[in-house]
Amino acid sequence: MERTLVILKPGAVIRGLAGEVISRFEKKGLQIAGLKMMRLDDAVLDEHYAHLKDKPFFPRIKASMMAAPVIVCCVEGLDAVSVVREMTGCTNCRKAPVGTIRGDFGMSMQENVVHTSDSPENAVTELARFFKEDEIFTYDNPLKPFRYSSDEMSNG
Ligand code: ADP
Repeated sequence: MERTLVILKPGAVIRGLAGEVISRFEKKGLQIAGLKMMRLDDAVLDEHYAHLKDKPFFPRIKASMMAAPVIVCCVEGLDAVSVVREMTGCTNCRKAPVGTIRGDFGMSMQENVVHTSDSPENAVTELARFFKEDEIFTYDNPLKPFRYSSDEMSNG
């Protein structure tokens, strides 16, 4: 099964949305494989948002990501990266469709509730950035045959 990174940004923690957002992934049928609270620092954000380092708003998004602790989650399931990304909605919450996390819980481009990995390759890199190997858990779930068909389980 594929794994992806979700970061509940400081805004989600402070606004008390963490449980509701995590609950969406659980109800969808994704499995939580790792979960922890941490404070992000300058160095990890320089790495994580390296693709934005030349943007004028770069210092502002780093400050926003350090304003309070975040909750990092490793979410697992068949095609988890694209499923979670669809559930996230586009960057600007005002444009994100209703029914997505950003569409339902935000009004801002910057303060957009969650980060989610945008490709399987980036998911692998980002999970390694935020989790140690022994912080990600592989475990059987007896509900799996009710979530997936047998062929989906063997392909996943
Ligand atoms: P996404 O998080 O949707 O994958 P990006 O990787 O492009 O988007 O951007 C990372 C984060 O930087 C966004 O989630 C958002 O918080 C912030 N951001 C991106 N573009 C802007 C912008 N034009 N103005 C303010 N903040 C932005």
